[in-house]
Amino acid sequence: MSEPRLKAPRGTFDVLGEQSAVRSALESRARAILEGAGYERIETPVFEATELFARGVGESTDIVRKEMFTFEDPGGRSLTLRPEGTAPVCRAYVEHGMHKRRQPVKLWYLSSFFRHERAQAGRYREFWQVGAEALGSEDPAVDAESITLLAALLAEMGTRELRLRLSSLGTPASRADYRERLKAYLREHEQSLSPDVRSRIDANPLRAFDAEDPGTRGVMQGAPRLLEHLDRSDLEHFAEVRALLDLASVPYEIDDTLVRGLDYYSRTVFEFTSDALGAQSGVGGGGRYDGLVEQLGGPPTPGIGWAAGVERILLAGTPPPAPAPVLELFVAMHSTGRELRQAAFGLLAEARSAGLTAQMELGGRSLKGQLNLANALGARFVAIVGDGVSTLKDMQGTEQQEIPTSTVVHAVLRGHHTL
Ligand code: AMP
Repeated sequence: MSEPRLKAPRGTFDVLGEQSAVRSALESRARAILEGAGYERIETPVFEATELFARGVGESTDIVRKEMFTFEDPGGRSLTLRPEGTAPVCRAYVEHGMHKRRQPVKLWYLSSFFRHERAQAGRYREFWQVGAEALGSEDPAVDAESITLLAALLAEMGTRELRLRLSSLGTPASRADYRERLKAYLREHEQSLSPDVRSRIDANPLRAFDAEDPGTRGVMQGAPRLLEHLDRSDLEHFAEVRALLDLASVPYEIDDTLVRGLDYYSRTVFEFTSDALGAQSGVGGGGRYDGLVEQLGGPPTPGIGWAAGVERILLAGTPPPAPAPVLELFVAMHSTGRELRQAAFGLLAEARSAGLTAQMELGGRSLKGQLNLANALGARFVAIVGDGVSTLKDMQGTEQQEIPTSTVVHAVLRGHHTL
């Protein structure tokens, strides 16, 4: 009796073949764009102390309330698989004293994240994000640059029907008055709100703008708008961000209902959506988080960043084809047998040491089968290894020569140079 087959857990996926090629293309485009703009790649651990997210994402957010994969390690510490990248990057900024470096410190990542959400098309429990964070400057040019870089990446990835929504949340201090006003308004309409929104009137009233139930949406249409209650310096900052985006010809719409899910945002917030995506239309978004580093025990440090979902980018676009890998030499064997296998393996190792891309026959094929395989792999040269000598075939021409196996690598290298 055979054992039952095992499957990948719900909401997770394997990355295979074509998918892995388009992901590589995305990674190399992201690297070129972000590193070209002075961003350095950062890797943080897959799990962190649960407290980092409780403090850095916010107790009242959906992520912390119901979406985290949290577990206790054998030492009794509470750990959480990272649900997002900004808090870990800020933790690393503080831990490594990056405030002493030249500011702003610009960091980018391409990593997997974990959220226990209802799995559906475009929404997974392990998913990938490309993200960028710039810490240490509140200059509106950092906001505009950050948004422009994501716009450039999405354009290069061929993202269809893209829209950029933009708003400003002011600073937590400047929105304190507004929060009270909004809370009062929500209480007045409490009976029409969803239980979830009602339970968060005090902790996170702004989240009511994100609610999907018709009752709450109806109430929110008449709600006071934060953009109308910003103070002067917030308004000036926002106006400058918009002016710089105009200069860079990045189109956007002002959306005064955009609040973003996380607690830490201040001033600029933005979101790219693709109408080609259906229900899960968010491609990427972010904003400024000037109080976050301090909240994590660091010095007062402004910051801004974004994260974009890799799967959503790939669903919403036609990425540019990745260049096919080049195979310079395929090592075939005249016949099977230990001695020829050793000679072929020796040649394979020598070719790779000389910097050639090379593969050898590994599946016990007939000579004809090996030549078909070399053809399918697009090999530039094939060496058919015999006893001390090899037949070297130029797969782009008709030429073929019999030479000592010890001179094959040299001949392939020379053949390349004469092309
Ligand atoms: P957020 O960190 O929630 O602002 O998400 C940023 C981007 O990550 C979103 O716009 C999506 O593209 C992507 N994303 C967030 N959650 C998921 C998920 N569960 N599955 C796939 N992509 C996601």
